Amino acid sequence: MNLQRELDVAIQAVTQAAQLCENVRDSLVTADTAIKKDRSPVTIADYGAQALIIHTLRQAFPADPIVAEEDAEDLRTAQGSELLAKVVDKVQEVAPGLDKASILDAIDSGKHTGGSSGRFWTLDPIDGTKGFLRGDQYAIALALIEEGSIVLGALACPRLPENLGKPDSPAGQVFFAVRGEGAAVRPLRGGAQTNVRVSTTSSPTAAVFCESVESGHSSHSHSARIVSELGVQAAPLRIDSQAKYAAVARGDADVYLRLPTRADYEEKIWDHAAGWIVVQEAGGKVTDVHGNPLDFSLGRTLKANKGVIATNGRLHDPVLSAVRAVLG
Ligand code: AMP
Ligand code: MG
Repeated sequence: MNLQRELDVAIQAVTQAAQLCENVRDSLVTADTAIKKDRSPVTIADYGAQALIIHTLRQAFPADPIVAEEDAEDLRTAQGSELLAKVVDKVQEVAPGLDKASILDAIDSGKHTGGSSGRFWTLDPIDGTKGFLRGDQYAIALALIEEGSIVLGALACPRLPENLGKPDSPAGQVFFAVRGEGAAVRPLRGGAQTNVRVSTTSSPTAAVFCESVESGHSSHSHSARIVSELGVQAAPLRIDSQAKYAAVARGDADVYLRLPTRADYEEKIWDHAAGWIVVQEAGGKVTDVHGNPLDFSLGRTLKANKGVIATNGRLHDPVLSAVRAVLG
């Protein structure tokens, strides 16, 4: 599959958006915003990242539709004008040529419905908004879907250290994968790429699990019962965003559990597409809690699936059995 140009454009786009997000964090997220529970910095970064990435995609691939999380409706209102001015300011710091109209237009170009025919991109401009505000993990996630199947992904993790065991190692990695070609990572600041492979852990007792920081996004009480059922020794790593997929892909963790907290929640395709292909191409396996493959061909959500389990492959069956035993 020759997707080299798509891959180059995707990596460049998420890298530029990661720069914008880090600039916003450095300049706008303060102790004060945290105390006031003011979400405006993440909103600015969210819109700004979406504007940059969609603008880049539309220049390179004008015919490709895009399924993205945000739209510009609120920014176009009178109350949104102050926010819009800040978004424009932050976008222009990294892309000086982009004017207000093009920014709004780009943000509004992510409304595609997805589905099973043709090709389209799916984008989460900031995945893990709570992690972003806390100064923890977040990700910029972009994937290309053809005839309902993911063929390429680029996942920027601006706060992810080179080695999770060494939190002071340089942070900022972009993971990427093309179907059939393996997964790789390179530092966001530039430099050589290295291949990414899942761990070889085969004993559940020795496995490292990861899950959301937010118990509203994945049930912590169910995961505690699952790890106890399996005799897992280490406490689960709690990580925001699709950085969890990156952790499994490069063997920092062996298993990622995302256990439904509500029967009616439908996972969004942009919350999983890039992470899915990075883990698959690194040799891992991803299913829902019933063991079914994730179906990205049904629109903007994974409506046929419940929850997500990503593993290094070897641990998939024992983990799935424990998940079934606990969830019933
Ligand atoms: P995480 O950082 O893994 O906790 O996931 C963040 C993502 O969780 C956000 O991008 C939301 O789209 C998604 N989310 C919001 N509500 C729920 C929910 N009830 N269950 C699962 N995911 C959710
Ligand atoms: Mg998200």
